[in-house]
Amino acid sequence: VRSVNFRLIGNLKCRNSEWNRVSPRLYSTKKNVIALFDAKPFDYKYMDELSEKFKELNYEIQYIPARLLPETVSLAQNAKIVVPMVNDKLDQQVIERLKSYGTEMIAIKAAGFNNVDLQTCDRIGISVTRVPAYSPYAVAELAITLIMSLNRKIPQTYNKTKIGDFRLTNAMIGFDMHGKTVGVIGTGKIGKIMCNILQGFGCKVLGYDLWKDKELLQRPNFKYVELDELYARSDIISLHSPLLPSTEHLINKNAISKMKKGVMIINTSRGGLIDTHDLIDGLKEGKVGYAGLDVYEGEGEYFFNNWSEQVINDDVLSRLLSFNNVIVTSHQAFYTHEALQNIFQTTLANITEFANGKRMDQLTNSLNFMNKK
Ligand code: NAD
Repeated sequence: VRSVNFRLIGNLKCRNSEWNRVSPRLYSTKKNVIALFDAKPFDYKYMDELSEKFKELNYEIQYIPARLLPETVSLAQNAKIVVPMVNDKLDQQVIERLKSYGTEMIAIKAAGFNNVDLQTCDRIGISVTRVPAYSPYAVAELAITLIMSLNRKIPQTYNKTKIGDFRLTNAMIGFDMHGKTVGVIGTGKIGKIMCNILQGFGCKVLGYDLWKDKELLQRPNFKYVELDELYARSDIISLHSPLLPSTEHLINKNAISKMKKGVMIINTSRGGLIDTHDLIDGLKEGKVGYAGLDVYEGEGEYFFNNWSEQVINDDVLSRLLSFNNVIVTSHQAFYTHEALQNIFQTTLANITEFANGKRMDQLTNSLNFMNKK
């Protein structure tokens, strides 16, 4: 289907300029195809740099601008390997369709795997790999950026000075980080870097995790506590645990009721960790003083896309954007040069292992990881 500026991919509109990046062999019968969904400019940049290596493996890359959803899964026909983006939905229906098209591997180019039904992959024999670590620094540093921007009112100040208003208003008064108590939920790779940076500020850090990090346990100014104590004592709470059934809506009305008045909540992990309606109630009541959100539970349709010329129909997202004590970034905590290089190098390494006959290892690890929770 063609129009002057757009074509349809599945039922999704796609600019002709984007369509031109889709391989003309999209519907070819050639095997060894890697279908990269929700392709973005950075995918072209970093995948293109590795294109010779993929050629050596006898794989060709097809860039598909559409998200991988039940409506678009047919675009993966002939793809032996599918590379999804974080907001693609690989549920049972999609995975079974992929299997029927001959897909043998799903190479997730992210750490989180909550959008892939691993049990179905395991049952029907599709390998799943991910990039468990690429730069914990990138994510922790964005979490700190959100804290400091909210604290020192950087967005407001930037807008003010742009129009020549250099006054100091009472609303711009921030607080010293030194001596504040910060709760870090999830002290894995990213959470631990977060603790390190916060300790550099002179903060007291309270950690919560199902597993205690031995090195953190030795630190002065760091203590593992139960969640209720973390909620009650923290001036700032930063989320770094994965999204699992056990952590979904961890931050809800009940949790917020246990927090200090004016608490700052930072989420650079996954949107589903927070019940957004409850967060908005907390913000309206003033119980939550600030929120820094790199992720949002309804981000799928919006994040990574340009909605500046369209009406945003998600009233929850619109309400979040309307608060002057909330900063929303667009799932970009991973978005540094170093992290992207590692993401694509590791994805190449995963695909190379697969091409050399290795199967299932990371999937099994992921399932073990989930079962431990
Ligand atoms: P990690 O596996 O190293 O650490 C996660 C930690 O959470 C582990 O220590 C684990 O024991 C802990 N945990 C599990 N269940 C918990 C629970 N119920 N309560 C408290 N802690 C629990 O992972 P990581 O590399 O530190 O990444 C953390 C999360 O960050 C990922 O799951 C991913 O969703 C998110 N992430 C976001 C971005 C982004 O761009 N915004 C980028 C990378 C990762």
